[in-house]
Amino acid sequence: MSAEPQNSTQANTLSANDRQLLEDGRSFAFTTKLDAIVAWGRKNSLWPMPYGTACCGIELMSVMGPRYDLARFGAEVVRFSPRQADLLLVAGTITEKMAPVIIKIYQQMLDPKYVIAMGACASSGGFYRGYHVLQGVDKIIPTDVYVPGCPPTPEAVLDGVMTVQKMIEDHHPRPWKDNWKAGEYR
Ligand code: SF4
Repeated sequence: MSAEPQNSTQANTLSANDRQLLEDGRSFAFTTKLDAIVAWGRKNSLWPMPYGTACCGIELMSVMGPRYDLARFGAEVVRFSPRQADLLLVAGTITEKMAPVIIKIYQQMLDPKYVIAMGACASSGGFYRGYHVLQGVDKIIPTDVYVPGCPPTPEAVLDGVMTVQKMIEDHHPRPWKDNWKAGEYR
């Protein structure tokens, strides 16, 4: 289709067919940026992988259930293979022995990938100040959102998911993720 006419002279030079196309375009077309529409699709189709190790994992189940219904946010396709997931939900106490496993899972996830630390244990070790407990999952993988609570309420977890969605929509810079290197753990 020809470009939109700049003045009446140009409009008169359009063929009837072009004029019809122009009118049709005005009635239904909308404009957007490619990265905006990609972000829109991405934020509404997160595929979470639950990594539940303790009580928070039980609380996470209720987020998936019909009462709180994570499906309303397009994130109900829970995967148990990291190769099919882009949102890691770490829910529970993480021991030092689990650290290499979580790193491997994180590496295998699809890019761009996001991490939510659900609860005090995943965020900071919680009340476990033992040598065997990781003092926060961000010690080993880049974490985007921390959901407070012991355990957090399902509403708080939903808020965490919405925060990730907002980050995607806003193209929020993520230096903690971009500069992350797996390295050796222990
Ligand atoms: S934060 Fe509280 S509820 Fe969650 S795993 Fe730790 S002890 Fe359990």
